[in-house]
Amino acid sequence: MIPYARHAIDDADVEAVVEALRSDYLTTGPRVEAFERAVAKRVGAAEGVAVANGTAALHAAVRAAGVREGDEVVVPAMTFAATANAVLFEGGRPVVVDVDPDRLLLDPDLAAEAVTDRTRAIMAVDYAGHPCDYDALRALAEDRDLVLIADACHALGATHRGRPVGSLADLSCFSFHPAKHITTCEGGMVVTDDADAAEAMRQFRNHCMDRAHGERDTWEYEVTGLGWNYRLSDVQCALGLSQLRKLDAWLAARRDLAARYDKALAAVEGVASLDVAPDVEHAHHLYVVRVDGDVADRRAVFEAMRADDIGVNVHYLPVHLHPHHRRVLGTGPGDCPVAEAAYEEILTLPLHPQMTDDDVGRVVTSLQQAVSEPERA
Ligand SMILES: *Cc1c(COP(=O)(O)O)cnc(C)c1O
Repeated sequence: MIPYARHAIDDADVEAVVEALRSDYLTTGPRVEAFERAVAKRVGAAEGVAVANGTAALHAAVRAAGVREGDEVVVPAMTFAATANAVLFEGGRPVVVDVDPDRLLLDPDLAAEAVTDRTRAIMAVDYAGHPCDYDALRALAEDRDLVLIADACHALGATHRGRPVGSLADLSCFSFHPAKHITTCEGGMVVTDDADAAEAMRQFRNHCMDRAHGERDTWEYEVTGLGWNYRLSDVQCALGLSQLRKLDAWLAARRDLAARYDKALAAVEGVASLDVAPDVEHAHHLYVVRVDGDVADRRAVFEAMRADDIGVNVHYLPVHLHPHHRRVLGTGPGDCPVAEAAYEEILTLPLHPQMTDDDVGRVVTSLQQAVSEPERA
């Protein structure tokens, strides 16, 4: 099976982890700060706050944005449930907004229409690794006095008009799940230029414990809010630091593989790749195609390709259609027609840096056959 995503661990990673395991620190130690500094530097932000996973990063960002009971936060329909859930954790209300048909990114005009006087923040999702229209979203956030949060879990290493994702929103969130660009097994980070927000998030990940007046030689601390244990361990940060050294080579490999797919699929009737804006560097986390329903049935294509041992997948069921979100938000079919129509056609093809040109060839051949001979399924 060629999986849709796959991590890569080399000897240097193993050695880094072993060294951390043999050190004085297993959880909060010097590698946490070192990893925070390294990621923040890589993405052009002043501060990084490492947390247990990408979902915790989104939760910390929503708390830092000051979202309170009843506040609204604009989120795009085409995303993973965690984007909306991070708002729900704080008692806020995710307002699900439709995406543009070419890239499946939050539509800035629809986002503007969805803003009310209860809106506190906008969450932009760089779907598949394509940066959102940060200029338009920034302008909207500034105009309406909103916090701009980037769910950049797909977009480590992407740039928009020459500026890195991570430096474009007030708070940007990354995930280090093994399916993402680099991994810490589980892990996440929020990056920001706001030192006060970073300090608040460092407390939030550690039970909102405030050391009394910054004194070191004291047992005293106070719990100043409802915090969590969202700490990322020193051992995991050792792995993250080692993985980060490979990010640029992996981004280049992903770009090459995506270019191969683009070229090969241009000739396949009924299959269209998602559009890429001219002024971005795509991070190519996912390679998503649309299967034209008039040419072939996406479910049949999915099943035929799985039978060929191609690990295709579908990202995502629009978030407003999950049973939980329908129940608590009162959403349903028809709310976001562009995302819903896309959901009937999208298919994620395997993409990870260790794939070979032969692997791409196998995927393309399987897809081509599945689309042209639907009866095979
Ligand atoms: C992976 C991902 C998350 C959650 O990250 P975890 O580390 O799995 O908690 C959130 N949003 C998006 C868009 C993601 O792809």
